Amino acid sequence: MPLADDDTVATIGDGGRRVWLYPLKVWGRYVTARTLFGWALFAVLLIAPWIDVGGHPAMMFDIPRRRFYLWGLTLFATDANYLLFLFGSFIFSVFLFTALLGRVWCGWACPQTVFLEGIIRPIEQLIEGPPSQRKRLDAAPWTVSKIWKKGLKLAAFLVVAGAISTTVVAYFIGREGIFEAQADPFSHPVATSIFIALTAVLMFDFTWFREQVCIVACPYGRFQSVLMDADSLTIAYDTGRGEPRGKPRDPNAGDCIDCKKCVQVCPTGIDIRKGVQMECINCTACIDACDSIMDKLGRERGLIRYTSENALATGQVRLLRPRVILYALVLVAIGTGFATALTLRQPVEIAMTRPPGEPFTVRPDGRLQNLMRLRIANKGAEPRTFTASVAAPEGGDLFAPVAEMTVGPDAVGQFPVLLIRNAAGPQRTPFVIRVRGDGGFEGTVEATFIAPPPAAEGGE
Ligand code: SF4
Ligand code: SF4
Repeated sequence: MPLADDDTVATIGDGGRRVWLYPLKVWGRYVTARTLFGWALFAVLLIAPWIDVGGHPAMMFDIPRRRFYLWGLTLFATDANYLLFLFGSFIFSVFLFTALLGRVWCGWACPQTVFLEGIIRPIEQLIEGPPSQRKRLDAAPWTVSKIWKKGLKLAAFLVVAGAISTTVVAYFIGREGIFEAQADPFSHPVATSIFIALTAVLMFDFTWFREQVCIVACPYGRFQSVLMDADSLTIAYDTGRGEPRGKPRDPNAGDCIDCKKCVQVCPTGIDIRKGVQMECINCTACIDACDSIMDKLGRERGLIRYTSENALATGQVRLLRPRVILYALVLVAIGTGFATALTLRQPVEIAMTRPPGEPFTVRPDGRLQNLMRLRIANKGAEPRTFTASVAAPEGGDLFAPVAEMTVGPDAVGQFPVLLIRNAAGPQRTPFVIRVRGDGGFEGTVEATFIAPPPAAEGGE
């Protein structure tokens, strides 16, 4: 039995068949602003791994060396807490922005929308023409002209997918790595595999899956309803003003002339006049489409507009609600914590570890020694030289085969040191090692000196 119009989504036809959409391209103040914003975002994301900030790629996640470069900030594996701050601020920003502005992420910043609406559909329109022409071309038998157009479109999509995949892989192996991988794919087998897989996924998305990502695959579209409330901003049709629909000259009709332009431009194929729907990605196309009609009719713009359910019903806009205040407070707390952690961040980190093997040996002079390893992480942009000495206990000694330990910028050095103590004494003695370095650095690190167990009283 065929489903009623309201019981199904526009891209699913009889028997579950995919209905291909041919959304009409519309330009207006919102679509223009959104496109410019998307391109700016796209440009930042695309150039970040290729430009240097502070001697490193602006953004790079160097997993083998356990370094993360974020616009001049270098994070080491020991800085995982900073990543937690960043992750926490991302999550709560999504919460806050969704509660306030609804699905603004989907329409303005999501890579799927930016790539599809800002690059892929314009390329398609350039090669195959406007929607009516594309529809005819798809239905037409294969001819040389159709093969040429489809081939050219696929080649253009492949260039875009390849450029995006190259950039994504460059985020992890750097630009030198990506050049090496492209010159010799077997030199970076994992990166090459990711590049091929990502390009294939993007081609699948660009050529076929498209709006289905938002409708069936994206989890954010599903859980955003719990983050929104009746006061969250959304794109909605003003039923009170638009209904009943009718001819422009009908004195009893509302402002909607039922031209369906808002439906024709919708990339997910929905009719916004049926109310707020999960498939709506807040792309603003229907606002501009309807505004163009209102302009022609000499009526006020905004029959479809950014508003909220409550604002439509009561005329009241309520920005400050408990959930908004709560999310904002959490974000401020995370931001303060992040700023404090960055301010207190040590440019050098020191640690003492014990290599495997004998915990102690007896020196020729009868004293005991423990071989330890001093680990120094230099997080600065200049090389630093360090020296180590014993701060405690009294009578403890230290011998460093490398007396002046130099660690390069953004590098970790590991140096053997010998802790020395008289043979008489407890089995375990806490040692405090003082490390001094260039730039006035001074820090201490603790280590436990291990001696043989004292001989049992009365023993042989
Ligand atoms: S574009 Fe405006 S006038 Fe036309 S159908 Fe949609 S809401 Fe009605
Ligand atoms: S209903 Fe309007 S805002 Fe929502 S996806 Fe369709 S065109 Fe975009």
